[in-house]
Amino acid sequence: MPIATVNPATGETLETFTPHTAEEVEIALTRASEAFAVHRLTSFDERAALLRAAADALESELEDTARTMTVEMGKPLAQARGEVAKCVKAMRWYAERAESLLADEHPKPADVADSGGVDAYVRYRPLGPVLAVMPWNFPLWQVVRFAAPALMAGNTALLKHASNVPQTALLLEQVFTRAGYRPGCFQTLLIPSSGVDAVIRDPRVAAVTLTGSEGAGRSVAAVAGDEVKKTVLELGGSDPFLVLPSADVRRAAEVAVTARVQNNGQSCIAAKRFIVHREVYQEFADAFTARMSALRVGDPLLAETEVGPLATEQGRDELEELVQDALRLGAEARCGGRRPADLPQGWFYEPTVLAGVTPEMRVHHEECFGPVATLYQVDSLEEAVRLANDTPFGLSSNAWTQDPEEQRVLVRDLEAGAVFFNGMTASHPALPFGGVKRSGYGRELSAQGIREFCNVTTVWHGPAGGRD
Ligand code: NAP
Repeated sequence: MPIATVNPATGETLETFTPHTAEEVEIALTRASEAFAVHRLTSFDERAALLRAAADALESELEDTARTMTVEMGKPLAQARGEVAKCVKAMRWYAERAESLLADEHPKPADVADSGGVDAYVRYRPLGPVLAVMPWNFPLWQVVRFAAPALMAGNTALLKHASNVPQTALLLEQVFTRAGYRPGCFQTLLIPSSGVDAVIRDPRVAAVTLTGSEGAGRSVAAVAGDEVKKTVLELGGSDPFLVLPSADVRRAAEVAVTARVQNNGQSCIAAKRFIVHREVYQEFADAFTARMSALRVGDPLLAETEVGPLATEQGRDELEELVQDALRLGAEARCGGRRPADLPQGWFYEPTVLAGVTPEMRVHHEECFGPVATLYQVDSLEEAVRLANDTPFGLSSNAWTQDPEEQRVLVRDLEAGAVFFNGMTASHPALPFGGVKRSGYGRELSAQGIREFCNVTTVWHGPAGGRD
C-alpha cells in the first residue's frame, strides 16, 4: 500500500509520501537509542512537564488535527474532535499519575523474611526504544494510549503508522517536538509494513506493540518471538451485546446504535453481535432497526453526518462481501445491505442490520469492520453466553440486565477482556484495555498498561549490603 492521504469520502489522492530510506531509518534508530540513554535518567517531574506541554500543544491544534484525521480516514468531524480531546486528557492523566503507578513496591517484611535479606522491593525501570505498529481507525488515540505511558516510564517511541494516515502520524511527531522532547524520544517512521521486520530485529529496539488485524499481529509477534522481544497485541474484536429480559430495552436500542456505528463502524470494541432474549427480541429489533435506518450517511466534514465512508476501498469491498455471503445463505437485511445510491463516489455503505444469521455464514465468525450489525434471538441466559463465546475473538462484551445473579454469571463466563453492564464499551485511562483469545494479549492503559514496557526489577539487600 503506498503511503498516501486518500480522502475516503471522494476517493481522491491528496498527497503521497516518499518512504524513509534504509539510511533514514538507521539514523532514527540511533537517535531513539541515544535519546533513551538520556530520557531514562530524567525524573518523573521532568517527564510530566514534557507530557503536559505535549497535551497543551495538541489541544491548541485540536481543530486542524481533527480535520486531518477526518480527511485521511473519514470519521465524522465531531468524533475526530472528541478523539483529540480524549488524547489530551490521557496525556494529562499519565503526567499526573505515572510516578505513583511506577512507585517501588515493597512486599510485607514478613512475606520475605525467609529470603535471607534485610530488604527487598520491586522497581519499574524502562526497557528502551519501543516500536509501535498502529492502525488508522483511531489514528491519534491508538498511538497516544501507547506513547503517553511509554514516555512517562522513560522509554522512547518509534511509530510505524498505517500507510493511509501519514499526515496524522507526522503531526503527532511535531506535537512531541514542539513540547520540547529531545530528538529521538518520539519519531514517526514512514515505512511500509514490509519494513517492520528489520526494525523489530534491530538490537536497539527493545520491544514492540501492535494494534491491528490478526494477520499483522501474528507476523509481528513471530519476528519478535524469534528475537525474544516483549510484545503487546491489540487485535480485532467481535464483541457481543446481550439484551436480557430485565433490560431497559429502549435505552439498550439507543446505545446499541452508537456502539455499532461509532467511527463508521470501524472500532475494535464496537458491539457487533446483538444477542437478544426472546421476551424482548421484537421490541429491541424494531427499535434498533428504526434507529439504524434513520442514520444520516454522508460527508464526514458536515456537522449533520452521523456515518461517514469506510476508510479504504478494500475495507468497503470486504464488508460488502461479508453481507453478500450472509444474504446468499439466507440472512435477512432488516435495513441496508447495499451501498447508498445517492453517494456514488467514496467508500460508503448503508447501516445494515442482519437477522437470521447462522454459523455457516462468514459474518458469524469474522469481524465485521463497518456499520453492519448481526441480530440473534435466544431463549435463555445460557444460550446467550454460549453464542457470545462462539467466536475466535475476546476483546470486550456488553450486557443489559438489572439482575445481579445474571451479572455474576456473565462476569464469570464471558470470554472477553472486559464486561460492560447497561452501557457500551469505552476505553478510559484508569481501566485496563485488552483482550483474550484471538483479540491479543497484554493490556494498555491504567497501571497494567504502563508496566507492560518496564523491566520489573527485583532489588534484594543482603544483611551486609548497603542501601541504594
Ligand atoms: P492492519 O492491516 O493489521 O494494519 C495495522 C498496522 O499494521 C498498520 O500500520 C499496517 O501497516 C501494519 N501491518 C499490516 N500488516 C503487517 C505485517 N505483516 N507486518 C507488520 N506490520 C503490518 O489493520 P487495519 O486494517 O489497519 O486495522 C483494523 C484492525 O485493527 C481490525 O481488526 C481492528 O479490530 C483492529 N484494531 C484493534 C484494536 C484493539 O485495541 N484491539 C484497536 C483498533 C483496531 P500498513 O498500513 O502499511 O499495511
